[in-house]
Amino acid sequence: MTSPAPLAVGCTRVSTLQQDDNYGQATQAEEIRMEAQRRGWTLLDTVYEVESGAKEERATVARYYALAEQHPGLHFIFPRVDRIGRRAHLILGIVSELHKRGATVHTVGIPMSLRSKEGMLMLTMLSGVAEFDYSGITERLHRGKYAKAARNLWPHGSPPYGYRIVRDERGKSLTLEPHPDTAPVVRRIFERALAGEGSPHIAAELIRAGTPPPRPTKSSQGLWTVRHVLYVLANEAYTGRRPFTGPDGETAVVTFEPMVTPAEFARVRALVSGRRHHRPARTRFPALWAGHIRCAMCGGSLSVFRNHNDTKKGRTYYVSYRCRNTYQGSAMAVVKGMKTCTHRRIHNHLKIDEAGWALFVQAMSDPAALAQAAGGQQPSAPDHSARLGELRGQMADIVRRAVLHGLPDEVVTAALDPLRTELAALERDMVMPVPEPLPDMTALAAQVGAHLAGLHDLEARREALDTWQARLYLGMEGIERVEMTVQRG
Ligand SMILES: [Zn+2]
Repeated sequence: MTSPAPLAVGCTRVSTLQQDDNYGQATQAEEIRMEAQRRGWTLLDTVYEVESGAKEERATVARYYALAEQHPGLHFIFPRVDRIGRRAHLILGIVSELHKRGATVHTVGIPMSLRSKEGMLMLTMLSGVAEFDYSGITERLHRGKYAKAARNLWPHGSPPYGYRIVRDERGKSLTLEPHPDTAPVVRRIFERALAGEGSPHIAAELIRAGTPPPRPTKSSQGLWTVRHVLYVLANEAYTGRRPFTGPDGETAVVTFEPMVTPAEFARVRALVSGRRHHRPARTRFPALWAGHIRCAMCGGSLSVFRNHNDTKKGRTYYVSYRCRNTYQGSAMAVVKGMKTCTHRRIHNHLKIDEAGWALFVQAMSDPAALAQAAGGQQPSAPDHSARLGELRGQMADIVRRAVLHGLPDEVVTAALDPLRTELAALERDMVMPVPEPLPDMTALAAQVGAHLAGLHDLEARREALDTWQARLYLGMEGIERVEMTVQRG
């Protein structure tokens, strides 16, 4: 028997401030992979981070800590010390926190363990260098950026989605112009929003059209999400102006070709903020049953994910449901000891959403189904037997001592009265209430059925599923049943 290979997690970090450093995510990931291989470790996962500003407010650090706690003895591989953090005290803090949690931190190129004295000395020196480099870069960049912005030139950094940078012959950025591929997408998003369409509908249309989203991320699975749409609709840069703040707090506004008028932008803002606020969806995708759909085979929840189909016409994307417990071959799943389920079928969300909704509306219009959904919620009588036992014991004790010491009746009565009162109240409370007759489900079914049949908007339908706590059960053959909970008022 050989013991399993130690587990490692790789951590890459790219910065939008250092686009010129030629040290991209792919290079970093490759160095990490080689390092893990060289040391004979199994690479469990790679945490990717894109640092967007100077703020060291990092969800990824919390993820490192969570991983360290989940997997005792985990090795963290960073490609370089300056990928741990930008400030010396933060770098040292993160390393020491990870070591405290039983993990060990390694950086490619430092052969000794960072837990050793020599390793710590090396780390302290290199984190000082990292901070020095960083502060120089940010200071220079900030001054340079602002000076350009003050001359109405696009200073630096990626343009808003829908625009591209116009450069001079030396490659220096001059201004922004609408991007031929993505500007029409931005205009279409604003048009649809101005026509009163909600962000889930807009996102759904973009997915169906196979339009790539502004920043494809792992979590959005390369698809448009409601958040992407809202982000576009909230970006005032589409009115053709972007303010930049200088190192001393002064502001310069860079102007370029607008995609919407200030009046249109203001109308969209009013529409978006005036729309009813719903509980945040449990998915970023416009999938109706997300969070309300379960596997009929293992009882687990189904996840929403993307897949695609290639035909002669090109690639079409779909949003689908599948059982979470079928993921296999993922190292993380094995380590976490996830349940496995044989429900391998992938269900297209469009079919399930429509058919599931129809089934739900049908069930909600059926008085018998509603009565069943309201069952099991009969108020039960409270149980005060423990307190009653205590009271009876105290009363018996009072009587016994009264007899023993020959106490006058008034004293005994005064001592017993409050106890008797409480006892009587508790006994009354414990009597099983007469079961309430079921509310008239015929009337409710007719009302609710008519209301639900009139809901066509995705958000409104999702709100209804939340209200009635709907659960749709899916098996290999498709929808098996729908359940809901009717609160008895
Ligand atoms: Zn399952």
